[in-house]
Amino acid sequence: MNLFDVYPINPINIVKGDGSLVYDDNGTEYLDLYGGHAVISIGHTNPHYVKRLEDQLHKIGFYSNSIEIPLQTQLAEKLGHVSGKEDYQLFLCNSGAEANENALKLASFYNGKKKVIAFRKAFHGRTSLAVAVTDNPKIVAPVNETDNVIFLPWNDEAALEEAFRNNEVSSVIIEGIQGVGGIQVAPIPFLQKIRSLCDEHNAVFIADSVQCGYGRTGKFFSHDFADINADIYSMAKGMGNGFPIGGIIISPKIKPAYGMLGTTFGGNHLACAAGLAVLEVIEQDSLMQNAADVGGYLIEELKKFNKVKEIRGRGLMIGIELPEELANVKKDLLFKHNIFTGEAKPNVVRLLPALNLTKAYADRFLDAFSKTLSNS
Ligand code: PMP
Repeated sequence: MNLFDVYPINPINIVKGDGSLVYDDNGTEYLDLYGGHAVISIGHTNPHYVKRLEDQLHKIGFYSNSIEIPLQTQLAEKLGHVSGKEDYQLFLCNSGAEANENALKLASFYNGKKKVIAFRKAFHGRTSLAVAVTDNPKIVAPVNETDNVIFLPWNDEAALEEAFRNNEVSSVIIEGIQGVGGIQVAPIPFLQKIRSLCDEHNAVFIADSVQCGYGRTGKFFSHDFADINADIYSMAKGMGNGFPIGGIIISPKIKPAYGMLGTTFGGNHLACAAGLAVLEVIEQDSLMQNAADVGGYLIEELKKFNKVKEIRGRGLMIGIELPEELANVKKDLLFKHNIFTGEAKPNVVRLLPALNLTKAYADRFLDAFSKTLSNS
């Protein structure tokens, strides 16, 4: 059997990881500033994480959601504490798309309405509703097509007000910083406007924090920069540092109803152990502060390169927009300097490293970036 050919593949076989470094099967070392697309939050093979998962696996890895799983309660408590959203409730699932799918469904259950506002260039996942609110016609199959989604331009308050006019809006889903869309930071007044329109119209504010959440920006949720509370936050990626786990946290105004949400694997013992280990490390090692400090340093240093068109982002979620003729920079960083980065459009380099990236590794990147630009 062959693999179904869906991803463009680099001919590199990564077999080992250690913090911000990974190694291929020839022993070559790479600096990982991509973290498997914002997944590696506390670094590869973090000892506390490895031990917690190993210990749990020796006890029990999985049973089912038909029994009490105290680890789920512990995870909810810890998440409430670290994120500051103590009065929210946690529903656990397995991926970002599934989290958004459940958030959109729950919103519609809650207010009985159907329309969803999403934004141009948004990415929310590849399941049915998640793909319908994603602005990429290439990944919507006929079965996902719906006229319930209204796509609005980014940061257009007049269009937003207009879309709310007939009071049919169930929810607004927005990334605090668009990731796949090229690292576009949602302006604070725009997020605040969404909050007040949702309040006025009994609509649900869904903060997709799958990529921009979990401390990456220096705050737990990037929407926190606007000093607002969303009604639902969706999370995945960094939540498990590589172990598949996703979830939504739900404000107290939305009450649960039996049968509304569910999943076989969500919140299994191993996933909870991974989730707890991640939060413990984020807290103990002050990783949000580190993301703010090292990310802030990188952003300031990157602004000094005059060949760069624009630097966008917050903390350790950074987009470097290059002139189109420099679109090969990402490949050069990987194949000439052994540095993994991500991309959005061919000419935006995305940095999504582990939150404990050191300043020395940031400098290693800046040095390689400078050499790559001067040879381009
Ligand atoms: N939302 C955002 C903002 C994302 O970046 C992604 C993944 N790139 C998803 C949702 C979907 O997450 P998953 O791949 O875990 O389904």
